[in-house]
Amino acid sequence: MNGRQSGIGMTSQRTRARMVERLRGEGIKDETVLDVMGSVPRHIFIDEALATRAYEDPPLPIGYGQTISSPYIVARMTELLLGGNPKLTKVLEIGTGCGYQTAVLAKLCSEVYSLERIAPLLEKARANLREMRISNVKFKHSDGNLGLPAVGPFDGILMAAAATRVPPDLVEQLAIGARLVMPLGTGEQYLYVISRTDKGHDEQRYEAVRFVPLLPGIT
Ligand code: SAH
Repeated sequence: MNGRQSGIGMTSQRTRARMVERLRGEGIKDETVLDVMGSVPRHIFIDEALATRAYEDPPLPIGYGQTISSPYIVARMTELLLGGNPKLTKVLEIGTGCGYQTAVLAKLCSEVYSLERIAPLLEKARANLREMRISNVKFKHSDGNLGLPAVGPFDGILMAAAATRVPPDLVEQLAIGARLVMPLGTGEQYLYVISRTDKGHDEQRYEAVRFVPLLPGIT
C-alpha cells in the first residue's frame, strides 16, 4: 500500500478493524469476506472531504446522483454471492459506481467483469483499482440489463442497482448452480438471490434494502 492507501486516524487499519467488528455484530459470518473488508482501503474510493466517514454505515455520495453502498450491504451481498465458497472464478458486477465493491470482488474471484452506464464514474473506478494495483478486473461502459453474453456464463452476478423485475438476460448468463444477488422491488426493495437450476431458476428473498434504480441505456 502507498501512503494514501494505508491511511491515518479515521482512515487507518484500526478504523477498518473496528468496521469489521461492527459487521460481525450486524450478522456477517463469512470470515473470508470479513478479511477482505478489513484489507481494502475504502477511503480511497471516496471524495477526500468525506474520507473520514468512509468506514461508517450510511451510504455516501460519489457524484452523478449515485452513492457508494454501505459496508454492511457490500459485505452482505458478497457473502450471499459466495454462498459459502471460498472463491469464485468468473463474476459479473452491474453498477461499478466508485469501484469499491469491485475491489472486494477482485480479491475473491479470479476474473471480474464490471459494467457501468455513467462513463465518468467508470473512469474513476478504473483509476481507483489501478491505484490498488488490481489487474483482474475488466470494465465496460454498457447497460448492465443486457449482461455480457460474449463472456458468460458466470459463476456469480452481483447487481448494485434496484430492478423491478429479474432481468432475463442475466439469468441466462448464470452457469447452472450459480447465483445472481440483486435488490428487487417496486417501492419496498429486498435483496434477492436467484439461483440457476437445470430447469430454470429459484428465488430467495432476504432483508429490506434501499438502492438507486437500475436505469436503461448509457450516458
Ligand atoms: N457498488 C457501487 C454502487 C454504486 S450505485 C459502489 O458502491 O460504488 C449503483 C450504480 O449502478 C450507479 O453507479 C449507477 O450508475 C449504476 N447503474 C444503474 N443502472 C445501470 C445499468 N443499467 N447498467 C450499468 N450500471 C447501472
